[in-house]
Amino acid sequence: MSFKDQFEKHSWDEVKESIYSKTDLDVEKALMSPKRTLDDFKALVSPAAAPYLESMAQLSHQLTQKRFGKTIQMYIPLYLSNECTNICTYCGFSLDNKVRRKTLTENDILQEVEVIKKLGYDHVLLVTGEANQTVHIDYFKKVLRLIRPYFSQISMEIQPLDQDEYEVLIPLGVTSVLVYQETYHQDDYKKHHPKGKKSNFNYRLETPDRLGRAGIHKMGLGVLIGLEDWRTDSFFTAMHLNYLERTYWQTRYSLSFPRLRPFSGGLEPKVEMNDKELVQLICAYRIMNEEVEISLSTRESEKFRNHCVALGITSISAGSKTNPGGYAAEPDSLEQFEISDERSPGEIAEMIRSKGYEPVWKDWDRVIS
Ligand code: SF4
Repeated sequence: MSFKDQFEKHSWDEVKESIYSKTDLDVEKALMSPKRTLDDFKALVSPAAAPYLESMAQLSHQLTQKRFGKTIQMYIPLYLSNECTNICTYCGFSLDNKVRRKTLTENDILQEVEVIKKLGYDHVLLVTGEANQTVHIDYFKKVLRLIRPYFSQISMEIQPLDQDEYEVLIPLGVTSVLVYQETYHQDDYKKHHPKGKKSNFNYRLETPDRLGRAGIHKMGLGVLIGLEDWRTDSFFTAMHLNYLERTYWQTRYSLSFPRLRPFSGGLEPKVEMNDKELVQLICAYRIMNEEVEISLSTRESEKFRNHCVALGITSISAGSKTNPGGYAAEPDSLEQFEISDERSPGEIAEMIRSKGYEPVWKDWDRVIS
């Protein structure tokens, strides 16, 4: 039994039609309901909800503050490798993008860690492309042993692994793993992933199940916004989250909403999502789910991120480099995508404080992990 069984009972077109046929009454019912359903979520992400954005924002703000207080967690990505054996049409690391490849050595990693620690971080997100020959389980083990003394919290955004591989990594200090489905539209998924292991839609779809069975503390879900209709993709993400929370109830969950950004060799988004729509989506998830953590990366602009602090997000990255060695070891290597908010971690922390919130650099201690 996995999410795939539930997923296969739903048709993309029917879900889409049902979202687009929601009315004012459906939105009002969703806003007033004491316990919201996935059908309410459809109403909250529908075009009919656009005029209710202010009410949604207020409710999202209240619910977030009730559960998380006035805090925003700080994290930073550490790109370990831009090697990748997959072709993904939207990514600068894609195999067919003829650029110089780099996988950090232990010495490179220590140089990166030194800079990241000076910035004040205690939570690092390790990111790699998917290259089985070089960026494999033994490489991950080596890296985790190397950096564990420097960080209380280590997250990973790496290739999907088997359950037994996750079971090896978790005791080495991994507290959370992010795995984005990119899109739940199977035909478009095929179009955007024509080559490599990632072209296996179902293996990716079932990754959160493998993580849950391995006993991960937290996992992150999301889609790449711009590949397909964002409202429908978000519904499937919400359904996936709902399933996982019921099945692996000891695990915590986070969501991200990466919007397609320019990169070397770039793909234009099929579907544009404007800032108001992203606010609507953040609020819809929060109103639907009071527990889920919501993260906003440096893909988003300075102005937008300032605005979102009080709306429903709970974690934010700052000072990010999206190229391996970007902090110190090899600043000129290829980046995965261009970042938009270039402020330093100190400036972001100050912005958070100016809004009456507290930036949290550490919310986990490996002594108790
Ligand atoms: S999205 Fe991931 S798997 Fe696809 S090309 Fe980029 S790094 Fe490789």
